[in-house]
Amino acid sequence: MATTDLKQIASGVFAWQPGHEATWGLANCGLVVSRGQTLVIDTPYTPALTDTFLNAARAAAGADTAFDRVAVTHANGDHTWGLQQLPGAEVFATHATLEHQCLEPRPDQLQDLTRNTDPGQPLGWYFREHFGRFDFAGIEVLPPTTTFTARHDLTVGQVPAILHEVGPAHTVGDLIVHLPESSVVFAGDIVFAGDHPSHWAGPLERVSAACTRILDLDPEWIVPGHGPLMTPDDLQGYVAYLDDLADQAYLMHGQGRPAVEAARILIKENRYPGLGLPERLAITLSTEYRHLEQDSAAPDLLQLMNHAARIAWELASSPPLAP
Ligand SMILES: [Zn+2]
Repeated sequence: MATTDLKQIASGVFAWQPGHEATWGLANCGLVVSRGQTLVIDTPYTPALTDTFLNAARAAAGADTAFDRVAVTHANGDHTWGLQQLPGAEVFATHATLEHQCLEPRPDQLQDLTRNTDPGQPLGWYFREHFGRFDFAGIEVLPPTTTFTARHDLTVGQVPAILHEVGPAHTVGDLIVHLPESSVVFAGDIVFAGDHPSHWAGPLERVSAACTRILDLDPEWIVPGHGPLMTPDDLQGYVAYLDDLADQAYLMHGQGRPAVEAARILIKENRYPGLGLPERLAITLSTEYRHLEQDSAAPDLLQLMNHAARIAWELASSPPLAP
């Protein structure tokens, strides 16, 4: 697995980017350091990966610096399951993230899906392909300790860090971290770079609105939840994608096409070239359809993953197009 060093974005502001490989679970993390204080933004998926991140973070911050505060952008495991490596830390999240945490798959469920499913079937193959690199054994899921709604202001040494609630969007409880003096926004999974996103809460209009809020903060750099750093121009491109996808969902829903069929059509016509993990369209379109149908029931995550796995399986086994 490509594990990179911490990249300095601005004075005292770092991003840890474990790599962009068109795969699940390799989330970016952040570190803010000022005058002996720190703020960590999200933790990696597993304790082992978290130790790699924290070793780099401690080297950047200095040996005597305390790591006692973490801002968690949302409840997905790939952003929170490393928290046990920072025992006693104050963990900030939105109140909706705390409430949402119990709906997330558990580490032992993921371990089971990755190890004990049939690799000859799409779901078992897909989980091994994308989650087989992670060891979820022994992870204790820790809840946030300090929750808020709307906005929470922190000071890290001399640096203001403002947590803005922007969910529901990617999940029900998303937040972004704005560092106004450094002109950096950590966007969590509101923003994916390089791959199709998988938005679980939606609707897409809310994700797009969250991106517009980020642009209104006038940042120089945006750190997405996954993938390389973005400029505001890059983020504009992502907003255009979200808005187009919402239009396509509306159109195909009106034509009576199921969400999974709509995903297959968009993939076949190569509407969004260059983005990895196109099978995730089945997830995000299913989310959008739930809103169009005013269906407020909790989504069946395993069924959504199964849809995505089947599409990926088909794409992997179909012969390449003739030049
Ligand atoms: Zn993520």
